[in-house]
Amino acid sequence: MLTDIEISRQTKHRPITQIAEQFGITSSELVPFGDAKAKVKLSILKRLDDNLEGKLVVVTAVTPTPFGEGKTVTSIGLTQGLNALGKKACACIRQPSMGPVFGIKGGAAGGGYSQVVPMEELNLHLTGDIHAVSSAHNLAAAAIDARLFHESRMTAEEYRELSGQVPLNIDPEKIFWRRVVDHNERSLRNITVGYGDNNGPIHDSGFDITAASELMAILALSLDLKDMRRRIGKLVLALDTQGQPITAETLGVAGAMTVIMSDAIEPTLMQTLTGDPCLIHAGPFANIAHGNSSIIADRIALKLADIVVTEGGFGSDMGFEKFCNIKARVSGKTPDAAVVVVTLKALKANSGIDSQNDINQPDMARLQAGFANLKWHIDNVSQYGAPVVVAINRFPTDTFEELTWLKAKVLQTSAFGCEICDGFSQGAKGAEALARVVVSATEQKSDFKFLYQLDSSIESKLLTIAEAGYGASGIKLSIDAESQLQDIKSMGLDNLAVCVAKTPLSISHEPKVKGVPTDFELPITQLKVNAGAGFITALVGKVMTMPGLGIKPGYLNVDINQDDEIVGLA
Ligand code: ADP
Ligand code: MG
Repeated sequence: MLTDIEISRQTKHRPITQIAEQFGITSSELVPFGDAKAKVKLSILKRLDDNLEGKLVVVTAVTPTPFGEGKTVTSIGLTQGLNALGKKACACIRQPSMGPVFGIKGGAAGGGYSQVVPMEELNLHLTGDIHAVSSAHNLAAAAIDARLFHESRMTAEEYRELSGQVPLNIDPEKIFWRRVVDHNERSLRNITVGYGDNNGPIHDSGFDITAASELMAILALSLDLKDMRRRIGKLVLALDTQGQPITAETLGVAGAMTVIMSDAIEPTLMQTLTGDPCLIHAGPFANIAHGNSSIIADRIALKLADIVVTEGGFGSDMGFEKFCNIKARVSGKTPDAAVVVVTLKALKANSGIDSQNDINQPDMARLQAGFANLKWHIDNVSQYGAPVVVAINRFPTDTFEELTWLKAKVLQTSAFGCEICDGFSQGAKGAEALARVVVSATEQKSDFKFLYQLDSSIESKLLTIAEAGYGASGIKLSIDAESQLQDIKSMGLDNLAVCVAKTPLSISHEPKVKGVPTDFELPITQLKVNAGAGFITALVGKVMTMPGLGIKPGYLNVDINQDDEIVGLA
């Protein structure tokens, strides 16, 4: 079979203006970047205000392996399959980060015959939104240091007179706002800044990957530009020497940050291999952030399509939980159906049975043992009230016997339906059976329930996520987290949502514990205020907000060939 980039290049994409027109976006609402992608202006939401909304399908998965189990492949395949059935369907997915693209995972445009095209445009700079997020984020970091520098060189009186601003007395030891870059840059995780002449004060800082920036979460959760401006103003960047919060508003940088992001707020329209619309927007990771594409893109798509397919990152304990308890609460749009993606190899990897056998080879014992993990995810998603469809993402090496065993087994659970999806090898045709079941699932009555209410305390919300969301027996707060909890209470932020940052590789906090972990207490090491995004991030165990490159990174394969074409993007 051809590689993803070969398939993408071989298929002539249609002019994006045609895709837009057919979908119902007018030319005055479109800002084309070449002929394969275009930004969509937010004025469209006003025009479509009276349109009814379509159905929303959220794609999630079992506990993943580090390579991904095919949620994007299934989301794009399903969108193609739905369109082939005559439904007007649109996919809404995140913009890939270049960290994973050049690190371990390769691209995130789907794969095989279920792709967003041209895949290299999606996987690299697209329309520059991630750069805008990095730039706006780093402006705030520069603003903090400039303020520290100038205030440290004169008296408060002089500062007032020369700058026309009130001194902020930022405490250099209490700066929370770090820098970001969209690469896996291990060596920048912890740095010290301010050395040298005409510089200072010296203080600790560091870099996170841009997907972990609170601004990325804000981009994904904002309802419009004014809402984004309001959220950016609330960002808590540091404390002053009296322990009072310094926000982007008090620093006077919120307006400029919003201006840098003012094009990024528009989603980018692309197309699938079969010419179906796809909106790409925002890119928070689901382990360290809330893991879902933007509310704005979903809203535009829902006003134009019968069915919108979107993806929450990692397993259902991560992106799907955050879709429901964070994103849906802000947008007001809850899922009409959920798709849980599973692969034979993911279940084998989740079996807890150590084996030297190739994971792609038949192994009924491991498959049977791994089924418990899928059952857990079906039950986890079901508790939110939307019908669950299981999509068995078929790999070329999968045997008929194992696939049919798994399908029969799923049909004995509470899942609404189950289909084998072969969108990867067969495109729309391979996903039609899944599309049919998903359509009937969206026609069922969905009785959505949040896992927790915002007005309960932070401890109680954390306990609910730990117990009902992960099956833990309780939570344990570190001394740091206890004292941060008191600060949160005294700041009156107790009623924010909670975003748990934990490993995606296990339902528990321990990546090596596979299957369905039981009898564990969730250790909460830190609580971080994300007042702009509107949640408290709870760090569980050791959570890395800046990945590193491995010993055999993806970039080794990437180059240009004699025809100046890009090669080696997965
Ligand atoms: P996720 O969205 O769950 O992280 P992706 O859809 O990005 O996963 O898929 C992860 C990787 O696995 C991609 O390289 C993709 O091309 C590959 N892949 C997914 N499904 C299949 C399949 N059915 N057959 C072969 N490769 C697949
Ligand atoms: Mg994905």
